[in-house]
Amino acid sequence: MAQFVENAPEVVLATAKEMLKKGLVEGTAGNISARQEDGTICITPSSIDYEEMTLEDLVIIDIDGELVSGTRAPSSEKLLHLAALRAYDDVGSVIHSHPVYATMFAVAHLPVPACIDEFAIFIGGDVRVTEYAMSGSDELGDQAVKALKDRGAALIANHGMVAVGPNPKKALHITALVERSAQIIWGAGRLGEIHELPESVNTTFASYYEYMRKG
Ligand code: 13P
Ligand code: ZN
Repeated sequence: MAQFVENAPEVVLATAKEMLKKGLVEGTAGNISARQEDGTICITPSSIDYEEMTLEDLVIIDIDGELVSGTRAPSSEKLLHLAALRAYDDVGSVIHSHPVYATMFAVAHLPVPACIDEFAIFIGGDVRVTEYAMSGSDELGDQAVKALKDRGAALIANHGMVAVGPNPKKALHITALVERSAQIIWGAGRLGEIHELPESVNTTFASYYEYMRKG
């Protein structure tokens, strides 16, 4: 059975507010989804202020994107969320965000290298950058699925980040960790040379990640 999230609406709403508080998005940007036990998806609405968002604003859609319940329009990035949830059974939640340092790498089309032990364990290796695809497009979903293979996050070219996990709390942790690492690596590059982790360490940590991804 695919990974699902208990009390998905409550958890999605709390995580959306936390994402804003942590400065990982500005205004109404970004979006969060979680798979429910019956296979439907709870997703944040499009363009609603996180501070004012309530449970009634959340939207339930099926895996093909058809509306199940809710009065708001689902996130304009629903195809990105659905592509990741369809491709990876062990993913229970998807978070799309616009954090500053990670988006700097995304604009430069540079992956965030795995230079920090903690990063390799929680993310599975370097954070790849997708090929450019327009916001909201089917192609963006395909590109993200490719970049997310064996990874907890990917950078969306000229746009931001997408992170996946068994639940919204873990996907938010990954989002914040990639952003923090991008900031550290950006700064370290200004101090001198960037030293990547030895390949053997990456391989060992990648297997820890595989285990943790299953929640
Ligand atoms: P929504 O408000 O439609 O979820 O879109 C925000 C966003 O980040 C688009 O890429
Ligand atoms: Zn976006």
